[in-house]
Amino acid sequence: MRARTALIVGGGIAGLTAAIALRRSGYSVTVLEQADRFEAMGAALSIWENAILALRDIQAADRIEAEAAQIKGFAALTSTGKPISGPHLTRQDIGAYLPTRSLLQSALLEQIPDESLRNNALVRDIAQDDETASVTLQDGETLSADLVILANGIWSPQATEILANTPSHAGYGGYLALVKDMGDTHDGIGREYWEDGQRIGIFDAGQGRRYWFYMCDEAAPHDNTKLSLDDIKHRMEGWAPEIGTVLSGTDDKALIPFSIHAKKAPRKLGKGRIVAIGDAAHAMEPNLGQGACLSIEDAVELADIAANCDIQDILPTFEKQRLRRIRDIVKRSASTRATVHKTWPLPPALLRVIMSRIPHSISQSIMNKVRRVT
Ligand SMILES: Cc1cc2nc3c(=O)[nH]c(=O)nc-3n(C[C@H](O)[C@H](O)[C@H](O)COP(=O)(O)OP(=O)(O)OC[C@H]3O[C@@H](n4cnc5c(N)ncnc54)[C@H](O)[C@@H]3O)c2cc1C
Repeated sequence: MRARTALIVGGGIAGLTAAIALRRSGYSVTVLEQADRFEAMGAALSIWENAILALRDIQAADRIEAEAAQIKGFAALTSTGKPISGPHLTRQDIGAYLPTRSLLQSALLEQIPDESLRNNALVRDIAQDDETASVTLQDGETLSADLVILANGIWSPQATEILANTPSHAGYGGYLALVKDMGDTHDGIGREYWEDGQRIGIFDAGQGRRYWFYMCDEAAPHDNTKLSLDDIKHRMEGWAPEIGTVLSGTDDKALIPFSIHAKKAPRKLGKGRIVAIGDAAHAMEPNLGQGACLSIEDAVELADIAANCDIQDILPTFEKQRLRRIRDIVKRSASTRATVHKTWPLPPALLRVIMSRIPHSISQSIMNKVRRVT
């Protein structure tokens, strides 16, 4: 019997994880990536227990567990460092990590043979009939397979059309950076400091490095790119000492700007033989650090289903298994913004007070549910 085939549109975290997982399920896969080479964008990211468990399922967690800094927990604090919520400890028997984006990408890429990877392969169109699904590249070449996986990120026009969830600006953005030579004394607890309209998060990235992200309200996309490092330092005067230290150690050239866009929680995940995963399906606000983690879960669960189902049953089974969790995390990620950025009738300051009164056991159990360690 011939091996089933899959074309994966996009070679980000979702697409590369899907390639590893589908190959393990017996598929012959081709990743079609528009860029001329695989290059990780951004600095670092949190990979929580749910994604570590999924990566372990496909034997792809080893390098992250060996080389990345461990996240021991996460806490939300006021600007001066008074506790609002947490620390919510991670499960030490599983582990959560803060790999650089390049470490995660190379850990995934090294599990995929070169013949399964194509660069300079921008997918223009997709189509399907009862027998097959196909993609047409920018140069007019058409490729066919049993399945097409849309893993081409938040701006995927194909996923937006099928899922009817156009991305929109979330009203905030900022800068992030990876800083070297900060010493090895970090306790492993990631911290976010919150005030009205702005916040900063700091995580240990291992080897004396720190990863930080600053976010504030912005009226229009990319407005915050007008801010300089000195502006941020100025805004953070009087905040907790850890913040001044990490900002002082930052070189302007390390700053990476971003503007947050997200999609509404999807009601479906594809059509027929075409399945959307990762940000293409459910780009979310970064407030729970779960966008990539959910993309990894998607890829591993999809491959598991694809190994055991008739082709026509793959999408309905995937939707049945995934939609509820995806919708829950997308909504939670969006609602968490209200403690800093005014989007609800209740003022952020009042929400922070309410949040600080939630018993730790309850908030820890909510985080455990998000990270699937209940
Ligand atoms: C500031 C910020 C912080 C974040 N922090 C975290 C975190 O700590 N933890 C976490 O889990 N998540 C985090 N996320 C979310 C995470 O970055 C994303 O969810 C994740 O990277 C999505 O991966 P993806 O593969 O679905 O999409 P992408 O990374 O966007 O990859 C899509 C790929 O498809 C390619 N492509 C696009 N169109 C085409 C086409 N037509 N043809 C061929 N190729 C194409 C692109 O070049 C790209 O390589 C954060 C996001 C932001 C903005």
